[in-house]
Amino acid sequence: MSEALTGGCQCGAVRFTVSGGRPPVYACHCRECQKQSASAFALSVPVARDRLTIEGETATWQRLSASGATTTCHFCPRCGTRLYHESSRSPERITIKGGAFDDTSWIAPQAHLWVSRKQPWVMLDPDVPTHDTQPEDLSAWRDGLVGDWR
Ligand SMILES: [Zn+2]
Ligand SMILES: [Zn+2]
Repeated sequence: MSEALTGGCQCGAVRFTVSGGRPPVYACHCRECQKQSASAFALSVPVARDRLTIEGETATWQRLSASGATTTCHFCPRCGTRLYHESSRSPERITIKGGAFDDTSWIAPQAHLWVSRKQPWVMLDPDVPTHDTQPEDLSAWRDGLVGDWR
């Protein structure tokens, strides 16, 4: 039995719990993720929607992804911390932002997407797989990652 993973926004108005085992983690260096994180890359932690329990209200903003899917982005209405994303393409799964977990010691990406847009000073572990852009079928690719998203 694994302990629940907890997290929340910067101000504490929104808290969340993820039940079950540790999900996979990957990084994305695309421009959207740089904007979204207001940093160099985003850390994505995909989990099944029914594993997530939220306390507090999130606000949302939607954008159209390059593939034509709608991404709904959830964030704290008070402090603005981005907490998780959901895609119309895979409604059974959400993607939590890695830095939002309380314990981030296990948050290490097992793959890097969009390294063609990576900041040149970000040095990657040569043992971690990279993609110039992203896999054609992102859903199927995520199914193959190590970890327990279901
Ligand atoms: Zn907040
Ligand atoms: Zn991205």
